[in-house]
Amino acid sequence: MDQSIKRVIGLLSVALALGACSSNTTTKVENTDPLPGFALSNLDTTAAPCTDFFQYVSGGWAENNPMPETESRWGNFGILQEQNQKRMRGLLDSLAQVDNFSQDAHYAQLLSVQYQAGLDTVALDQAGAEPLSPLRSQLQAIQSWEDYLNWLPQALKQGFGSPFGLSVGVDDKNSEAYLLNLSSGSLGLPDRDYYLKEDSASKKLQSQYRQHMAAMFRLLEIQEAQAQKAAEAIYAFEKQLAQHKMSRTERRKPENTYHKMSVAEASQLAEPLQLDQTLSALSLKIDSLNVSNPAYWQQLATLLPQTDLVTLKQYHLWHVLRATAGYLSADFEQESFHFYQTTLRGVNEMKPRWRRVLSSMGNGLSEPLGRVFAERYFPEEAKQAVEQMVEDLRTAYGQRIKQLTWMGDSTKERALEKLAAFNYKIGYPDVWKDFSRLQLEEGAYFTNHLKLRAYGVQENWDKLGQPVDKDEWFMPAYLVNAYYSSSYNEIVFPAGILQAPFYDVNADAAINYGGIGGVIGHEFSHGFDDQGSKYDGYGNLNQWWTDNDRSNFEDRTQVMVEQYNQYEPLPHLHVNGEMTLGENIADLGGLTMAYYGYQERLQRTGESPETKAGFSWQQRIFLGWGQVWQTVQKDEYTKNQVMTDYHSPAQYRVNGPVSNMPEFWEAWSCEKGDALVRTDSLQVEIW
Ligand SMILES: [Zn+2]
Repeated sequence: MDQSIKRVIGLLSVALALGACSSNTTTKVENTDPLPGFALSNLDTTAAPCTDFFQYVSGGWAENNPMPETESRWGNFGILQEQNQKRMRGLLDSLAQVDNFSQDAHYAQLLSVQYQAGLDTVALDQAGAEPLSPLRSQLQAIQSWEDYLNWLPQALKQGFGSPFGLSVGVDDKNSEAYLLNLSSGSLGLPDRDYYLKEDSASKKLQSQYRQHMAAMFRLLEIQEAQAQKAAEAIYAFEKQLAQHKMSRTERRKPENTYHKMSVAEASQLAEPLQLDQTLSALSLKIDSLNVSNPAYWQQLATLLPQTDLVTLKQYHLWHVLRATAGYLSADFEQESFHFYQTTLRGVNEMKPRWRRVLSSMGNGLSEPLGRVFAERYFPEEAKQAVEQMVEDLRTAYGQRIKQLTWMGDSTKERALEKLAAFNYKIGYPDVWKDFSRLQLEEGAYFTNHLKLRAYGVQENWDKLGQPVDKDEWFMPAYLVNAYYSSSYNEIVFPAGILQAPFYDVNADAAINYGGIGGVIGHEFSHGFDDQGSKYDGYGNLNQWWTDNDRSNFEDRTQVMVEQYNQYEPLPHLHVNGEMTLGENIADLGGLTMAYYGYQERLQRTGESPETKAGFSWQQRIFLGWGQVWQTVQKDEYTKNQVMTDYHSPAQYRVNGPVSNMPEFWEAWSCEKGDALVRTDSLQVEIW
C-alpha cells in the first residue's frame, strides 16, 4: 500500500509497525539527574570511546534491556513504539465505551469497529478459511487467458500482489502533477536476491519458503501433493519475475526508474497484456504514465501468456493468502508467523493479539490512528522546540555549504536555494483525510480489511488529474520514524518520534541536539545525498550541479561506498556500501549538522554550556546520537537487514560517522592509531 509514495526516500529507520509508550513529557520538571536525558548506567565504561563508541554508549543499555522473545531487534525505536501502542490501546479501549459516534467522530468509529473485530478470535477461528471463499470463486471462474485479462483490473483494484502494479505518485520531473506508475510485480520473499542466490543457506531458505506455501495451501484443504506442486510452480514463476526485476541498488537511482511514455507506447511494449483495456476498465483516463522498468514489462508480456493458467491463479491466491493470514483463523496466522517472523527474522514468540491487531490497522487506518494518538499525546511545546532546532540546523548547513572546498560557487548558490526551500512538517497533518465515505461492519475483520485495501487503492488512483496535495503526510503520526521527500523537498517528523529519548523537554540541550537534532540533520542530508541531490528545491529531477562539482561529489561518495563495504556484521556478511550509501551520507551529514546546529543555538541564546556529569557539550552531542541507536539484534535480523534494508546496522550508524569526524576525535581526545580515527584514504567529508 505504501506504493502510493512514488519516491519518498530516506526514512530514518526501518518502518516499524506501530509504536510506543512512556510517561508524559509535557511538563518541565526540576531535574536532578547528573545528565538529564541520558542514563549514565547505559554506558559501558570499560569500552574505549575512541575504539568502539557504539559499545561505549550502548553496552550498559544492552545489559539493562534484554530483548523480549517477541522481537529480533530491540532498541529505543522499538521501546518507544511499544509505548505508543500501549497508549493507542488505551484510547481504543475507551472508544469501545462510546455508544453513539457523532458524524465528526466517524474516523474514531472506524477504528473502534475494526479493533474490536480483530480481538474477537473466537469468531475468526470459527470462520476458518471461509472468508476467502468469494475471492477463491473469482479465481475458479477464470478458464482462459481472456478471462484472466478481464479479471486483472479487478485484482488490481483489490490491491493484492500482482505481476505488475499501478500506483499514483508525484511526477519526478514535474512536482506539480501526479503520474501513474507501472511497477514490477510482487514476490513472496523479501527481495529478488533471495531467489537468485545459490549458496546453501539461500537454497535452504528457498526450500523453506516452498514448504511454507504448501503448508498454507494445506490449510485451505488442498491435498498434500497438489499443495506441493502449487508451491513449486509459484516459486518457479516468482523466480522468473525476480530475474527481470532490478536490484534494490539499481532501483534507488531515480533515472533508472523514470521512463515516462504514452499509454500507446507502454501498451505496445507489452501488447499481449492489453494495458489500454485494463486502464479503461479501471477508468484511469490518462495519456501518459511512467513504466518504472520497461525491460521487466516487456519480458512480462512474454512470460505471462506462457505461464500455465493454473499457476497464475495459484500465484494470485498465494498473494491473497500471504496478505490476509493475520485476518483469518489462528492456524493461518501461526503458519505465516513461523515463516515470515521466525525463519526469516528470528522472532520466537508472537506479540500479544492486541498489538498484532493494532499493527494490522496500520494498513488502511493509519491516519485515523495517528489522529487519535496525536490529539491526545502530542505536546505543542515539542513542536516549537523542534522548529527552532530545524532553523538552527538549516543555518549551520548553510554555513557548511558556503565553506565547502570541493564545490564551486554556482553550484553552492543552487544548493543554498534548495536548502532555503526545504519545507518541514512536525507532529501531525494540518488537514486530516476524510473517511466519511468509508463504512466498516462490526465483527467483519477480514472483509473490512478487503474494503480498506480497495479503498486505499482507489483513493490513490483518484489523485490522477488533481493538483498535488502538499498537505499530505506519507507517515502516520504515531510512528517512531521520520522522512525526507524529494518531490516535496520536505522533512517530516511525526509526533511518535518527538518523545524521549529522541526529544525530551527535560533533557540537557546538547543531548537533544545529538538526538532529535541528529535525526533532523539526517533528513536534511537526504536532500543532499547521492540520490536526493539530483532533485532541485522545487522537487524536480533536474541536474543543478556543474559537471565538475558533481564529479567531485561522486569521488567522495565512492570513498564512502568502499568504507561501508568493509563493515562485516557477521562473518563473511558485508554491508552493501552502494545500497546503503544514501543513509550513510545522511548519518554523517546529520551528525555534523547537529554538532554545528548546537553552536548556532549557543550563539542565538548566548548560553555558555558547562560540563555535565564530567562530559563537555561536544561529548554530549555524540552521546545523544549514540543513544538513538542503542540496539541489540539477532543474527537472522542482521542477515535480512543487510539484504533488504537501505540502512546500515546500528553499530555502523554510530561508529561509521564518528570515524570520519575530527570533531569527534577532539571531543574524546582520540589519537592517531585509535580504531575510530580514520587517517587512511577512506576518511571522508561530504557536507
Ligand atoms: Zn534516512
